[in-house]
Amino acid sequence: MRIPRVVNDFSTFFIRAGHQCYLVGGAVRDMLMGREVQDYDIATDALPDEVTKFFRRVIPTGIKHGTVTVLFKGTRFEVTTFRIDRDYLDGRRPDSVTFTPSIQEDLKRRDFTINAMAYDLRERRLLDPHAGRADLKAGIIRAIGDPLERFQEDGLRPIRACRFAAQLGFRIEEHTFACIPRSIDTVKQVSAERIRDEFIRILEAPTPSIGLERLNDCGLLLLFMPELIACQEVSQGELHRYDLYHHLLYACDAAPRDNLVVRLAALLHDLGKPRTMTRTPEGAIHFHRHEELSARLAERVLRRLRFPNHVVKRVSHLVAQHMFHYEDSWSDAAVRRFVARVGTDNITDILALRRADQLAMIGERFVSTSLIALEKRIEEVLAEDGALSLKDLAVNGDDLKLELGIPRGPKIGIVLEALLESVLDDPEQNERGRLLKIAKRFYEARLRED
Ligand code: ATP
Ligand code: MG
Repeated sequence: MRIPRVVNDFSTFFIRAGHQCYLVGGAVRDMLMGREVQDYDIATDALPDEVTKFFRRVIPTGIKHGTVTVLFKGTRFEVTTFRIDRDYLDGRRPDSVTFTPSIQEDLKRRDFTINAMAYDLRERRLLDPHAGRADLKAGIIRAIGDPLERFQEDGLRPIRACRFAAQLGFRIEEHTFACIPRSIDTVKQVSAERIRDEFIRILEAPTPSIGLERLNDCGLLLLFMPELIACQEVSQGELHRYDLYHHLLYACDAAPRDNLVVRLAALLHDLGKPRTMTRTPEGAIHFHRHEELSARLAERVLRRLRFPNHVVKRVSHLVAQHMFHYEDSWSDAAVRRFVARVGTDNITDILALRRADQLAMIGERFVSTSLIALEKRIEEVLAEDGALSLKDLAVNGDDLKLELGIPRGPKIGIVLEALLESVLDDPEQNERGRLLKIAKRFYEARLRED
């Protein structure tokens, strides 16, 4: 194994002080697979207090569990003291941790064989007591010891199994997998935040549908996303090759991997379809205004999983706006109004969402000519550098108050919106003198009460 210099430099602090120092977890796995390493997990017999003394930049991220984060030469290290987990009373987290001087004991408490290898940075050799390397070669996720027992200790592990299946494209070993449905009650005890973090890793995988399908196969997806399960076997009419559930999963796959918001929006964008479906006497299927219900359901799902507010807002906005129908006959003003309604910050995302939506319809690399045409026209509109939002206008609320005496309050907002409408129609108008004139006329005709 080729160990990066920064990792060797890091380990010398431990070795000089007479401590053991192992690279563990994802970094060992990823190095053996020849994959890029994200962050380094280190296991040591040094206690957190000692580790804190070795380095300048230390954050006590999980001090109760013996973990500190060290920033060293621009690299993040998660350093955990060897431990044995005791007394999983509620299947959430160990009640108490006991430190141990033995790396072997520490490796036993880990979840899967591929995650329980350790590279000894002092002796420069790999420790692999659970034959993780063979499973890594074969592409297998296998629990260490009795899977049922291990899952009942910590209900997050079944979800992690599905996460690694998606992230690495591995299969879950049969007996390990068979024990998941029997662990559902323990999974129910796990906090939404911990589930969310694993769910995010699934969405960041090359093919999220692999992980989501595994979660569904063992009944876990139903626990935290029943709205998605309700899309199973919902037909969408002739244009679509897949049922709604698979359409959503494949749209998520087709969304850009480095854009979590768009991947979430793609996965959730049609959740309102089952409840808005109608059929005409001729048999045509409609989902009238499903985007509004979909946006509300997407918000509900994300709040349940404790996603931060800014993510919830952006995803539900994209979902609410996803049903646009571009035609070549749109005027430039119509294109500008579309950009203004979606928001300049969201415009790339909504186009990415539509692309993903189309790519997941018929199972071929298909993007409509009308979408490509719209993308081009939006590019042109953005290049004009004209006003597309209130903050781009040549006047602001203070100007309206000082120059025209419009009182502070909702009326200012109404006038600014009217000015933006006007400028979207005719960008030439975005000039202070002209806007004040338009504002005066509008205010006097529509809003002034005396
Ligand atoms: P990644 O590369 O995505 O960080 P990782 O395997 O390093 O993957 P982490 O969540 O960083 O995953 O955990 C680091 C290591 O700690 C794991 O490889 C595993 O050995 C152990 N571990 C983490 N969570 C658990 C758990 N819930 N139960 C048992 N062991 C765990
Ligand atoms: Mg890690």
